[in-house]
Amino acid sequence: MNSKDSYQAMLAAVQRFHDKHRLREQGGEDMPYRVALMAEELGEISACVTKGRSGDELAEECADLMILLIGTAIAGDFPLEEAFWKKMKKLESRTSRIVAGRVRVSEFKEN
Ligand SMILES: [Mg+2]
Repeated sequence: MNSKDSYQAMLAAVQRFHDKHRLREQGGEDMPYRVALMAEELGEISACVTKGRSGDELAEECADLMILLIGTAIAGDFPLEEAFWKKMKKLESRTSRIVAGRVRVSEFKEN
């Protein structure tokens, strides 16, 4: 399975989940609600790190966020996989710097 097949399989699984629970019809695809859900999952990821939880727990919380992200692409009707590769290409051309002791890859626009 290549990465495109894999994304298509994930997208189809998330779409089935949305259909099963009628998320579109019942407010589950409203964007402010989805942003709140993603923030909630990001908090759970943070707790895994700050509370020293296992890698398995961290992976599960990251999967929660990934599922929400894919669902947000469904809700917003945008091509997430295409956006991923477009952005990845941009990132690959960027330089890195050490900022406050840690590596940062950014456009580094000066103020
Ligand atoms: Mg979670």
